[in-house]
Amino acid sequence: MAFENFLSDEQQSWRDTCNRFIDREITREYIRKCDMERTYYYEAYEKIAAQGWLGLMIPEDQGGIGGDAMDWVIFFEAMGKYSNDFSAATLGVSMYTAQALLHFGRADQVAQYIDAYLKAKVRFCIAISEPQAGSDAAAIRTRAKKDGEDYLVTGLKQWCSGSSAKGAIIAMLVRTDPESTRRSGLTVLLVPNDLPNLELRKLNTLARRGTGTNQIFLDEVRVPSANRLGVEGQGWEIITSHLELERLSIAASMMGCAQQAVTDALQYAHTREQFGQTIFNFQVLKHMLADMQTKVDAARLLVYRAAGMHQAGQPCGREVSMAKLFASETLQEVTRNGVQIMGGHGMLPEADMERYFREGMQATVGGGSSQIMRTIIAQSMKKK
Ligand SMILES: Cc1cc2nc3c(=O)[nH]c(=O)nc-3n(C[C@H](O)[C@H](O)[C@H](O)COP(=O)(O)OP(=O)(O)OC[C@H]3O[C@@H](n4cnc5c(N)ncnc54)[C@H](O)[C@@H]3O)c2cc1C
Repeated sequence: MAFENFLSDEQQSWRDTCNRFIDREITREYIRKCDMERTYYYEAYEKIAAQGWLGLMIPEDQGGIGGDAMDWVIFFEAMGKYSNDFSAATLGVSMYTAQALLHFGRADQVAQYIDAYLKAKVRFCIAISEPQAGSDAAAIRTRAKKDGEDYLVTGLKQWCSGSSAKGAIIAMLVRTDPESTRRSGLTVLLVPNDLPNLELRKLNTLARRGTGTNQIFLDEVRVPSANRLGVEGQGWEIITSHLELERLSIAASMMGCAQQAVTDALQYAHTREQFGQTIFNFQVLKHMLADMQTKVDAARLLVYRAAGMHQAGQPCGREVSMAKLFASETLQEVTRNGVQIMGGHGMLPEADMERYFREGMQATVGGGSSQIMRTIIAQSMKKK
Protein backbone atom coordinates (compact mmCIF):
# COMPACT_ATOMS: atom_id res chain seq x y z
CA MET A 1 0.00 0.00 0.00
CA ALA A 2 1.44 3.34 -1.02
CA PHE A 3 -0.31 5.29 1.69
CA GLU A 4 2.86 5.42 3.74
CA ASN A 5 4.14 8.02 1.27
CA PHE A 6 1.90 10.59 2.95
CA LEU A 7 3.66 10.20 6.27
CA SER A 8 7.02 11.52 7.44
CA ASP A 9 9.70 8.96 8.36
CA GLU A 10 8.98 9.61 12.01
CA GLN A 11 5.24 9.10 11.59
CA GLN A 12 5.83 5.95 9.56
CA SER A 13 8.08 4.61 12.27
CA TRP A 14 5.40 5.36 14.93
CA ARG A 15 2.85 3.56 12.75
CA ASP A 16 5.11 0.49 12.45
CA THR A 17 5.72 0.49 16.21
CA CYS A 18 1.99 0.61 17.00
CA ASN A 19 1.17 -2.11 14.48
CA ARG A 20 3.92 -4.40 15.76
CA PHE A 21 2.72 -3.82 19.29
CA ILE A 22 -0.92 -4.71 18.67
CA ASP A 23 0.09 -7.83 16.70
CA ARG A 24 2.77 -9.13 19.06
CA GLU A 25 1.95 -7.81 22.51
CA ILE A 26 -1.84 -7.65 22.45
CA THR A 27 -2.84 -10.00 19.62
CA ARG A 28 -6.10 -10.57 17.85
CA GLU A 29 -6.70 -13.76 19.85
CA TYR A 30 -6.70 -11.79 23.11
CA ILE A 31 -9.13 -9.21 21.72
CA ARG A 32 -11.39 -12.01 20.46
CA LYS A 33 -11.35 -13.69 23.87
CA CYS A 34 -12.33 -10.47 25.69
CA ASP A 35 -15.18 -9.95 23.25
CA MET A 36 -16.45 -13.52 23.50
CA GLU A 37 -16.19 -13.64 27.28
CA ARG A 38 -17.28 -10.02 27.73
CA THR A 39 -14.27 -9.28 29.89
CA TYR A 40 -12.46 -5.96 30.18
CA TYR A 41 -9.05 -5.55 28.49
CA TYR A 42 -7.10 -5.07 31.72
CA GLU A 43 -3.87 -6.73 30.57
CA ALA A 44 -3.80 -4.79 27.31
CA TYR A 45 -4.57 -1.50 29.04
CA GLU A 46 -1.69 -2.09 31.44
CA LYS A 47 0.66 -2.91 28.59
CA ILE A 48 -0.30 0.35 26.87
CA ALA A 49 0.31 2.21 30.15
CA ALA A 50 3.72 0.52 30.54
CA GLN A 51 4.70 1.91 27.13
CA GLY A 52 3.75 5.41 28.33
CA TRP A 53 1.16 5.66 25.57
CA LEU A 54 -1.74 6.67 27.81
CA GLY A 55 0.19 9.93 27.96
CA LEU A 56 0.33 10.26 24.18
CA MET A 57 -1.19 13.75 24.22
CA ILE A 58 -0.21 14.69 27.77
CA PRO A 59 2.60 17.30 27.80
CA GLU A 60 6.04 16.03 28.80
CA ASP A 61 6.17 18.21 31.90
CA GLN A 62 3.03 16.41 33.13
CA GLY A 63 4.59 12.99 32.63
CA GLY A 64 3.27 12.36 29.11
CA ILE A 65 4.97 12.15 25.74
CA GLY A 66 3.50 15.28 24.15
CA GLY A 67 2.29 13.86 20.84
CA ASP A 68 0.17 15.63 18.25
CA ALA A 69 -3.05 14.91 16.38
CA MET A 70 -1.29 12.87 13.69
CA ASP A 71 0.37 10.71 16.34
CA TRP A 72 -3.10 10.37 17.85
CA VAL A 73 -4.82 9.03 14.71
CA ILE A 74 -1.89 6.79 13.80
CA PHE A 75 -2.12 5.23 17.27
CA PHE A 76 -5.90 4.68 17.13
CA GLU A 77 -5.78 3.33 13.59
CA ALA A 78 -3.40 0.59 14.76
CA MET A 79 -5.11 -0.09 18.09
CA GLY A 80 -8.46 -0.37 16.30
CA LYS A 81 -7.42 -3.00 13.80
CA TYR A 82 -8.94 -5.91 15.74
CA SER A 83 -11.58 -3.98 17.64
CA ASN A 84 -13.00 -0.51 17.54
CA ASP A 85 -14.31 -1.28 21.03
CA PHE A 86 -10.83 -1.82 22.45
CA SER A 87 -9.35 1.19 20.71
CA ALA A 88 -12.08 3.83 20.84
CA ALA A 89 -14.02 2.84 23.95
CA THR A 90 -11.39 1.46 26.33
CA LEU A 91 -8.38 3.56 25.32
CA GLY A 92 -9.90 6.57 23.55
CA VAL A 93 -12.50 7.54 26.13
CA SER A 94 -10.01 7.35 28.98
CA MET A 95 -7.38 9.28 27.03
CA TYR A 96 -9.48 12.23 25.90
CA THR A 97 -11.19 12.54 29.27
CA ALA A 98 -7.71 12.85 30.78
CA GLN A 99 -7.13 15.70 28.31
CA ALA A 100 -10.27 17.46 29.57
CA LEU A 101 -9.16 16.96 33.16
CA LEU A 102 -5.77 18.50 32.41
CA HIS A 103 -7.44 21.41 30.72
CA PHE A 104 -10.19 22.18 33.23
CA GLY A 105 -8.93 20.54 36.44
CA ARG A 106 -7.52 22.33 39.46
CA ALA A 107 -3.88 21.70 40.31
CA ASP A 108 -4.86 19.33 43.13
CA GLN A 109 -7.10 17.31 40.78
CA VAL A 110 -4.33 17.07 38.20
CA ALA A 111 -1.96 15.91 40.95
CA GLN A 112 -4.52 13.42 42.25
CA TYR A 113 -5.52 11.85 38.96
CA ILE A 114 -3.02 12.29 36.14
CA ASP A 115 -0.14 10.29 37.57
CA ALA A 116 -2.55 7.55 38.73
CA TYR A 117 -4.09 7.55 35.24
CA LEU A 118 -0.70 7.26 33.55
CA LYS A 119 0.05 4.25 35.77
CA ALA A 120 -3.34 2.67 34.95
CA LYS A 121 -4.47 2.90 38.57
CA VAL A 122 -7.49 4.95 37.55
CA ARG A 123 -9.22 5.15 34.18
CA PHE A 124 -11.89 7.49 32.90
CA CYS A 125 -15.27 7.02 31.31
CA ILE A 126 -18.05 9.43 30.39
CA ALA A 127 -21.73 9.40 31.39
CA ILE A 128 -23.89 11.80 29.42
CA SER A 129 -26.74 9.78 27.87
CA GLU A 130 -30.00 9.20 29.73
CA PRO A 131 -33.19 7.43 28.68
CA GLN A 132 -34.68 10.68 27.28
CA ALA A 133 -31.34 12.21 26.23
CA GLY A 134 -29.49 10.39 23.44
CA SER A 135 -28.48 12.48 20.42
CA ASP A 136 -30.14 15.35 22.26
CA ALA A 137 -27.55 15.29 25.04
CA ALA A 138 -28.58 18.68 26.42
CA ALA A 139 -31.88 17.12 27.55
CA ILE A 140 -30.25 15.43 30.55
CA ARG A 141 -32.08 15.51 33.87
CA THR A 142 -29.76 13.85 36.39
CA ARG A 143 -29.83 16.30 39.24
CA ALA A 144 -26.95 17.29 41.56
CA LYS A 145 -28.19 19.21 44.61
CA LYS A 146 -25.81 21.02 46.94
CA ASP A 147 -25.77 19.59 50.48
CA GLY A 148 -23.10 21.31 52.58
CA GLU A 149 -19.72 20.57 51.01
CA ASP A 150 -21.16 17.78 48.86
CA TYR A 151 -23.53 17.21 45.98
CA LEU A 152 -26.35 14.69 46.21
CA VAL A 153 -26.78 13.15 42.77
CA THR A 154 -30.01 11.47 41.69
CA GLY A 155 -30.94 10.16 38.27
CA LEU A 156 -30.31 7.48 35.66
CA LYS A 157 -27.50 7.34 33.15
CA GLN A 158 -28.55 5.00 30.36
CA TRP A 159 -25.19 4.04 28.89
CA CYS A 160 -21.71 4.34 30.28
CA SER A 161 -18.96 2.33 28.62
CA GLY A 162 -16.16 1.09 30.86
CA SER A 163 -17.88 2.20 34.05
CA SER A 164 -17.67 -1.19 35.76
CA ALA A 165 -13.90 -1.52 35.26
CA LYS A 166 -11.82 -1.33 38.41
CA GLY A 167 -10.59 2.17 39.19
CA ALA A 168 -13.12 3.78 36.86
CA ILE A 169 -13.78 7.47 37.44
CA ILE A 170 -16.96 8.55 35.69
CA ALA A 171 -16.98 12.07 34.23
CA MET A 172 -20.70 12.60 34.72
CA LEU A 173 -22.76 15.40 33.22
CA VAL A 174 -25.35 16.55 35.77
CA ARG A 175 -27.81 19.42 36.12
CA THR A 176 -26.83 21.65 39.03
CA ASP A 177 -29.28 24.47 38.30
CA PRO A 178 -32.87 23.19 38.50
CA GLU A 179 -34.18 26.31 36.73
CA SER A 180 -31.90 25.83 33.76
CA THR A 181 -32.79 24.22 30.48
CA ARG A 182 -30.68 22.72 27.75
CA ARG A 183 -26.98 23.54 27.79
CA SER A 184 -26.93 25.95 30.71
CA GLY A 185 -26.82 24.87 34.34
CA LEU A 186 -24.86 21.71 33.54
CA THR A 187 -21.79 20.60 35.47
CA VAL A 188 -19.27 17.73 35.26
CA LEU A 189 -18.56 15.72 38.40
CA LEU A 190 -15.81 13.12 38.72
CA VAL A 191 -17.62 10.18 40.26
CA PRO A 192 -15.75 7.03 41.40
CA ASN A 193 -17.76 3.96 40.35
CA ASP A 194 -17.87 2.44 43.84
CA LEU A 195 -19.71 5.17 45.78
CA PRO A 196 -22.61 4.13 48.03
CA ASN A 197 -26.08 4.40 46.42
CA LEU A 198 -24.57 4.12 42.93
CA GLU A 199 -25.62 0.95 41.14
CA LEU A 200 -24.25 -0.32 37.84
CA ARG A 201 -26.31 -2.68 35.69
CA LYS A 202 -24.54 -4.28 32.77
CA LEU A 203 -26.28 -4.16 29.38
CA ASN A 204 -26.10 -7.10 26.96
CA THR A 205 -25.16 -5.10 23.90
CA LEU A 206 -24.55 -6.27 20.33
CA ALA A 207 -21.13 -4.61 20.36
CA ARG A 208 -18.79 -3.07 22.93
CA ARG A 209 -18.62 -6.34 24.77
CA GLY A 210 -15.07 -6.13 26.11
CA THR A 211 -15.26 -2.62 27.51
CA GLY A 212 -18.82 -3.28 28.65
CA THR A 213 -21.51 -0.68 29.02
CA ASN A 214 -23.79 -0.06 31.99
CA GLN A 215 -26.83 1.78 33.18
CA ILE A 216 -26.01 3.84 36.26
CA PHE A 217 -28.70 4.24 38.90
CA LEU A 218 -28.03 7.11 41.30
CA ASP A 219 -30.05 7.68 44.45
CA GLU A 220 -28.74 10.65 46.42
CA VAL A 221 -25.14 9.65 45.74
CA ARG A 222 -22.90 11.85 47.87
CA VAL A 223 -20.13 13.40 45.75
CA PRO A 224 -17.73 15.92 47.35
CA SER A 225 -17.67 19.38 45.73
CA ALA A 226 -13.92 18.85 45.38
CA ASN A 227 -14.80 16.34 42.64
CA ARG A 228 -16.36 19.02 40.45
CA LEU A 229 -14.44 19.60 37.22
CA GLY A 230 -14.30 23.29 36.38
CA VAL A 231 -17.00 25.56 37.77
CA GLU A 232 -20.75 25.06 38.08
CA GLY A 233 -22.47 25.64 34.75
CA GLN A 234 -19.35 24.80 32.70
CA GLY A 235 -20.47 21.24 31.96
CA TRP A 236 -21.42 21.69 28.32
CA GLU A 237 -18.19 23.48 27.52
CA ILE A 238 -16.19 20.69 29.17
CA ILE A 239 -17.91 17.76 27.47
CA THR A 240 -17.68 19.37 24.05
CA SER A 241 -14.13 20.70 24.48
CA HIS A 242 -12.48 17.54 23.23
CA LEU A 243 -15.14 16.50 20.74
CA GLU A 244 -12.76 16.78 17.82
CA LEU A 245 -10.10 14.60 19.45
CA GLU A 246 -12.83 12.17 20.50
CA ARG A 247 -14.29 11.85 17.01
CA LEU A 248 -10.81 11.64 15.47
CA SER A 249 -9.96 8.70 17.73
CA ILE A 250 -13.25 6.99 16.86
CA ALA A 251 -12.86 7.59 13.13
CA ALA A 252 -9.25 6.39 13.12
CA SER A 253 -10.15 3.26 15.09
CA MET A 254 -13.00 2.39 12.73
CA MET A 255 -10.87 3.00 9.69
CA GLY A 256 -8.15 0.73 11.15
CA CYS A 257 -10.73 -1.98 11.79
CA ALA A 258 -12.19 -1.55 8.28
CA GLN A 259 -8.70 -2.03 6.82
CA GLN A 260 -8.25 -5.25 8.79
CA ALA A 261 -11.64 -6.49 7.58
CA VAL A 262 -10.54 -5.99 3.98
CA THR A 263 -7.19 -7.67 4.66
CA ASP A 264 -8.89 -10.68 6.27
CA ALA A 265 -11.49 -10.97 3.51
CA LEU A 266 -8.80 -10.77 0.84
CA GLN A 267 -6.68 -13.41 2.55
CA TYR A 268 -9.71 -15.70 2.78
CA ALA A 269 -10.64 -15.11 -0.85
CA HIS A 270 -7.12 -16.15 -1.90
CA THR A 271 -7.22 -19.41 0.08
CA ARG A 272 -10.81 -20.65 -0.12
CA GLU A 273 -11.41 -22.86 -3.17
CA GLN A 274 -14.76 -23.56 -4.79
CA PHE A 275 -15.44 -24.97 -8.26
CA GLY A 276 -11.75 -25.89 -8.57
CA GLN A 277 -10.36 -22.38 -8.06
CA THR A 278 -9.90 -19.76 -5.38
CA ILE A 279 -12.97 -17.62 -4.90
CA PHE A 280 -10.79 -14.56 -5.60
CA ASN A 281 -10.91 -15.69 -9.22
CA PHE A 282 -14.60 -14.82 -9.42
CA GLN A 283 -14.74 -11.33 -10.79
CA VAL A 284 -17.75 -10.38 -8.74
CA LEU A 285 -15.70 -10.91 -5.56
CA LYS A 286 -12.67 -9.10 -6.99
CA HIS A 287 -14.84 -6.07 -7.60
CA MET A 288 -16.31 -6.22 -4.12
CA LEU A 289 -12.79 -6.26 -2.67
CA ALA A 290 -11.68 -3.42 -4.94
CA ASP A 291 -14.59 -1.28 -3.77
CA MET A 292 -13.89 -2.17 -0.15
CA GLN A 293 -10.22 -1.13 -0.32
CA THR A 294 -11.09 2.05 -2.19
CA LYS A 295 -13.55 3.07 0.53
CA VAL A 296 -11.03 2.35 3.28
CA ASP A 297 -8.36 4.43 1.54
CA ALA A 298 -10.86 7.28 1.18
CA ALA A 299 -11.72 7.00 4.89
CA ARG A 300 -8.01 7.12 5.74
CA LEU A 301 -7.52 10.26 3.66
CA LEU A 302 -10.44 11.95 5.42
CA VAL A 303 -9.12 10.97 8.86
CA TYR A 304 -5.58 12.15 8.12
CA ARG A 305 -6.83 15.38 6.57
CA ALA A 306 -8.90 16.19 9.65
CA ALA A 307 -5.96 15.34 11.93
CA GLY A 308 -3.64 17.54 9.87
CA MET A 309 -6.05 20.46 10.17
CA HIS A 310 -6.46 19.91 13.90
CA GLN A 311 -2.70 19.85 14.28
CA ALA A 312 -2.37 23.09 12.32
CA GLY A 313 -4.89 24.73 14.66
CA GLN A 314 -7.47 25.17 11.89
CA PRO A 315 -11.22 24.87 12.52
CA CYS A 316 -12.04 21.28 11.56
CA GLY A 317 -15.46 20.37 13.02
CA ARG A 318 -16.85 19.72 9.55
CA GLU A 319 -13.84 17.68 8.42
CA VAL A 320 -13.83 15.64 11.65
CA SER A 321 -17.55 14.94 11.16
CA MET A 322 -16.91 13.84 7.57
CA ALA A 323 -14.15 11.53 8.76
CA LYS A 324 -16.35 10.02 11.49
CA LEU A 325 -19.33 9.65 9.16
CA PHE A 326 -17.39 8.04 6.34
CA ALA A 327 -15.20 5.79 8.49
CA SER A 328 -18.19 4.42 10.43
CA GLU A 329 -20.27 3.76 7.33
CA THR A 330 -17.26 2.26 5.59
CA LEU A 331 -16.70 -0.10 8.52
CA GLN A 332 -20.34 -1.17 8.31
CA GLU A 333 -20.22 -1.69 4.55
CA VAL A 334 -16.92 -3.54 4.30
CA THR A 335 -17.74 -5.86 7.18
CA ARG A 336 -21.12 -6.75 5.70
CA ASN A 337 -19.32 -7.61 2.46
CA GLY A 338 -16.57 -9.31 4.45
CA VAL A 339 -19.09 -11.70 6.01
CA GLN A 340 -20.53 -12.36 2.54
CA ILE A 341 -17.10 -13.13 1.06
CA MET A 342 -16.28 -15.50 3.91
CA GLY A 343 -19.62 -17.29 3.62
CA GLY A 344 -20.53 -19.41 6.65
CA HIS A 345 -17.00 -19.13 8.03
CA GLY A 346 -17.52 -15.38 8.41
CA MET A 347 -20.17 -16.00 11.02
CA LEU A 348 -17.84 -17.80 13.42
CA PRO A 349 -16.10 -15.81 16.19
CA GLU A 350 -12.70 -17.22 15.19
CA ALA A 351 -13.03 -15.52 11.80
CA ASP A 352 -13.23 -12.12 13.60
CA MET A 353 -15.37 -10.72 10.80
CA GLU A 354 -18.59 -11.17 12.77
CA ARG A 355 -17.09 -9.02 15.57
CA TYR A 356 -16.00 -6.32 13.13
CA PHE A 357 -19.53 -6.47 11.68
CA ARG A 358 -21.22 -6.09 15.08
CA GLU A 359 -18.92 -3.21 15.93
CA GLY A 360 -19.76 -1.62 12.57
CA MET A 361 -23.42 -1.60 13.57
CA GLN A 362 -22.60 0.36 16.71
CA ALA A 363 -20.22 2.67 14.87
CA THR A 364 -22.91 4.70 13.14
CA VAL A 365 -24.85 5.27 16.39
CA GLY A 366 -22.29 6.09 19.11
CA GLY A 367 -20.07 9.17 19.22
CA GLY A 368 -22.65 11.15 17.23
CA SER A 369 -24.86 9.17 14.84
CA SER A 370 -24.52 9.32 11.07
CA GLN A 371 -27.64 11.49 10.92
CA ILE A 372 -26.14 13.97 13.38
CA MET A 373 -22.80 13.99 11.48
CA ARG A 374 -24.68 14.80 8.26
CA THR A 375 -26.55 17.58 10.05
CA ILE A 376 -23.27 19.13 11.25
CA ILE A 377 -21.77 18.90 7.78
CA ALA A 378 -24.89 20.40 6.19
CA GLN A 379 -24.85 23.29 8.68
CA SER A 380 -21.40 24.21 7.35
CA MET A 381 -22.88 24.35 3.84
CA LYS A 382 -25.39 27.11 4.50
CA LYS A 383 -25.60 29.88 1.93
CA LYS A 384 -22.86 32.41 2.63
C1 LIG B 1 -22.89 0.25 23.17
C2 LIG B 1 -23.11 1.68 23.52
C3 LIG B 1 -22.24 2.34 24.37
C4 LIG B 1 -22.47 3.66 24.74
N1 LIG B 1 -21.61 4.28 25.62
C5 LIG B 1 -21.89 5.53 26.06
C6 LIG B 1 -21.07 6.16 27.03
O1 LIG B 1 -20.04 5.64 27.46
N2 LIG B 1 -21.44 7.38 27.51
C7 LIG B 1 -22.55 8.03 27.04
O2 LIG B 1 -22.84 9.13 27.51
N3 LIG B 1 -23.31 7.48 26.08
C8 LIG B 1 -23.02 6.24 25.57
N4 LIG B 1 -23.80 5.66 24.61
C9 LIG B 1 -24.95 6.39 24.10
C10 LIG B 1 -24.74 6.93 22.71
O3 LIG B 1 -23.99 8.09 22.77
C11 LIG B 1 -26.15 7.14 22.14
O4 LIG B 1 -26.61 5.85 21.77
C12 LIG B 1 -26.16 8.08 20.99
O5 LIG B 1 -25.92 9.39 21.42
C13 LIG B 1 -27.52 8.04 20.27
O6 LIG B 1 -28.56 8.19 21.19
P1 LIG B 1 -29.77 7.15 21.23
O7 LIG B 1 -29.20 5.78 21.18
O8 LIG B 1 -30.63 7.49 22.36
O9 LIG B 1 -30.53 7.36 19.89
P2 LIG B 1 -31.51 8.57 19.51
O10 LIG B 1 -30.86 9.87 19.77
O11 LIG B 1 -32.84 8.30 20.12
O12 LIG B 1 -31.61 8.37 17.95
C14 LIG B 1 -32.44 7.38 17.33
C15 LIG B 1 -32.35 7.62 15.83
O13 LIG B 1 -32.84 8.94 15.54
C16 LIG B 1 -31.84 9.68 14.84
N5 LIG B 1 -31.89 11.09 15.23
C17 LIG B 1 -31.88 11.61 16.49
N6 LIG B 1 -31.88 12.95 16.43
C18 LIG B 1 -31.89 13.30 15.12
C19 LIG B 1 -31.86 14.53 14.41
N7 LIG B 1 -31.80 15.70 15.03
N8 LIG B 1 -31.87 14.47 13.05
C20 LIG B 1 -31.89 13.28 12.41
N9 LIG B 1 -31.90 12.10 13.01
C21 LIG B 1 -31.89 12.09 14.37
C22 LIG B 1 -30.52 9.04 15.22
O14 LIG B 1 -29.51 9.28 14.27
C23 LIG B 1 -30.93 7.56 15.30
O15 LIG B 1 -30.91 7.01 14.02
C24 LIG B 1 -23.57 4.35 24.22
C25 LIG B 1 -24.43 3.70 23.32
C26 LIG B 1 -24.21 2.39 22.97
C27 LIG B 1 -25.15 1.72 22.01
